Amino acid sequence: MPETTDEMICITCPVGCTLQVTHNGETLLHVDGNTCSRGLGYVERELTDPRRMVATTVRVRGGLHPLVPVCTVEPFPKPRIFELLGALRHIEIEAPVKMNQVVLEDALGTGVDVVASRDMPGTGS
Ligand code: SF4
Repeated sequence: MPETTDEMICITCPVGCTLQVTHNGETLLHVDGNTCSRGLGYVERELTDPRRMVATTVRVRGGLHPLVPVCTVEPFPKPRIFELLGALRHIEIEAPVKMNQVVLEDALGTGVDVVASRDMPGTGS
């Protein structure tokens, strides 16, 4: 793969350094602009296995509200986020829902669980 230089924003901390990243596909050749060494780790992960936390909602049957917020318990592979959102659109759980209740275990075989991020009582609770 040819050597290219891309601009990336490090999202590891609120400083948000702008990084100039020279790479050869997944191989990092050089990085400029990182204020600390965590920026280097961020770039290495972005090139080989980019991940993000995912937050969305799923439907609740018999709940005080029709939707409950959910999130991944750890960063999820970025290329599969739309696939995950599609899977979560088909899920409907029964109220009452407890915070941290697993909504989707081992999402798409990645080993990452999706959990409720708040309680959702039933209409009669
Ligand atoms: S390089 Fe370091 S200081 Fe800059 S955004 Fe990343 S973690 Fe923060």
